[in-house]
Amino acid sequence: MEYKMLPKVESFLNKNQLSLFINGKQQAAQTDKLIAVHNPATEDILAYIPNASSADTEKAIKAADKALSLGKWPKLLANQREKMMLDYANIIEKNEPELAQLLVLEHGKLYVDAQKEVSAAVNCFRYYAGWATKIEGSTLDVSLGGADHFAYTKREPIGVVGAIAPWNVPIMMYAWKIAPALACGCTIVFKPSEETPLTALFLAELSAEVGIPEGVINVVTGDGENAGSDIVKHPLVSKITFTGSTNVGKIIGQGAAKALKDFTLELGGKNPVLVLDDADLNKVPKGAAKGIFYNQGQVCVSGSRIYLPKNKYDNLLGDIGEIANNIKTGNGMDASSQMGPLVSEKHMQNVMRYIDSGKTSGAEVIAGGSKLFNKGYYVAPTVFSNPDNKNIDILTEEIFGPVIVAVAYDGIDDLIQKANDTTYGLAASVWTNNVSNMHKTLAKLNAGMIYVNSPVRSDPNLPLGGFNQSGIGNELGSASIKAYTRLKSVVIAY
Ligand code: NAD
Repeated sequence: MEYKMLPKVESFLNKNQLSLFINGKQQAAQTDKLIAVHNPATEDILAYIPNASSADTEKAIKAADKALSLGKWPKLLANQREKMMLDYANIIEKNEPELAQLLVLEHGKLYVDAQKEVSAAVNCFRYYAGWATKIEGSTLDVSLGGADHFAYTKREPIGVVGAIAPWNVPIMMYAWKIAPALACGCTIVFKPSEETPLTALFLAELSAEVGIPEGVINVVTGDGENAGSDIVKHPLVSKITFTGSTNVGKIIGQGAAKALKDFTLELGGKNPVLVLDDADLNKVPKGAAKGIFYNQGQVCVSGSRIYLPKNKYDNLLGDIGEIANNIKTGNGMDASSQMGPLVSEKHMQNVMRYIDSGKTSGAEVIAGGSKLFNKGYYVAPTVFSNPDNKNIDILTEEIFGPVIVAVAYDGIDDLIQKANDTTYGLAASVWTNNVSNMHKTLAKLNAGMIYVNSPVRSDPNLPLGGFNQSGIGNELGSASIKAYTRLKSVVIAY
């Protein structure tokens, strides 16, 4: 498909082998190991990025450590930090066409969704810019005796933040992790996913243009076993913020605990969609389809198992299947596409393995169920029927692709029991028009994020975090301010 590459994107990609971003500028990596970044819609190589060596990561961490206590950054007043963050938001907004195009190229998502992602990142920087002037401690009554005492707490920046991100919403992840860290006065070493590192490098270069001091934001590219693990182990990194799969989260949590550093883990999910008998059935199929096929199902909170009342099962499933069959899959740069490719060949093969496993384990394919086209990593929007709740892996494991599995239920207790029958606990959506049923369901659901009569979405003021195998700690809202500060208690005797 033809589209016009924007000059700034073209010149960014023409650097061919991109550098790391350390100490406020691009720096060549001290390694000859490279990783190719592909356009998932065409399979073409877009660029090569360094697979950072331990020496590269160390250099970035030392730059962040120096910027934390020396130079301009720690001397800035809170309102000066706020202004700098607002300037950063503005320049990101100004570069929206370039960032959206680069995002489609490296990730495959639809251009309109890439635009929305850039504006969500802008909003996130603006939201946390506001927080920079509102961080507070408290004064406390103490009963120490012997003298009069004045006691207070103060929140200080936690230190150098090591942020490790997945590939599904790369620009949003950059904002979710970097914006609150800046508001709190921290410095950052950010490692984007090796699948989608380009937008992070582009965003980091913009930070220099608005005068964010050198060393405050550093971007190290590379794979998890090297660059990622080097960040987790390094003694100068005080906090690890990780978003990614549950398996890698466990490795990171163990590494951070071993090095005795703070960590937050935002992990995978297998999120239920609960359709109550009293729901507005005209809205459910469209809402469920949006909840699973948006971003090709590559969303941690996507609704990947749907529970339908037994007496309405066939009709509702038929409607969802029809929507899936009519989705036009294609290149994200094509305005007529309604769903793009998956992020990589490896991920596409993984999703196809699940689809094949679903077929052989007896689930019925209602829509999709196959790879599409000869070029590009396309998988058809897929709907499985598993009415008897057979314990098969497409129902229990996170697929992270455009695959939804339907199950029938009989009565609200059966519904809640089935929805909670998972090792995860990230998100859920509930469709109902009955207030009593709604409250009964919400009170019993094991999920960190629940939406009623809507697919799950995010807002910078709404904390996000999973229960059970879906994570430890929260991100966004005031939760991120707590996560990027440490609490100092002071007692003054007078
Ligand atoms: P992933 O776990 O494979 O990788 C995530 C990041 O960790 C990447 O940057 C990777 O390079 C790095 N990494 C891998 N091994 C590492 C190691 N041993 N040490 C340090 N770093 C390492 O996940 P992914 O495939 O990039 O993303 C998909 C996953 O992310 C899904 O499970 C999805 O649910 C989850 N996710 C969760 C949320 C949330 O908020 N809960 C949001 C988005 C995505």
